[in-house]
Amino acid sequence: MESTFDIGGIGVAIFIWALGSLLVGFAGMNRKGGFLRAFLISLILSPLAGIFLTVGGGQKNPIGCRHCGNAENEAEYCGVCGKNEEGFTSAMKQSSHVKIAE
Ligand SMILES: [Zn+2]
Repeated sequence: MESTFDIGGIGVAIFIWALGSLLVGFAGMNRKGGFLRAFLISLILSPLAGIFLTVGGGQKNPIGCRHCGNAENEAEYCGVCGKNEEGFTSAMKQSSHVKIAE
């Protein structure tokens, strides 16, 4: 039995793995823990796990919504009531001369 390791294939796999980890690191740069955490998680676990753990899950800084109490909100406009911090909806902001009567 003569079996030789396919060094080329392994090399490519490692290269893709490292490249994927690097990309996840960049994607996680503005996330909690930053580049290094995302990169290391990807490298140790897998790039796929890195994406889920750093980019997909765990919001960096949910601003919440003070109009409806949606604490998970991360976008400028609340996903539940559609208002931003000043109480404007995106539709209101598009038309520049709208006065809010409340
Ligand atoms: Zn809201």
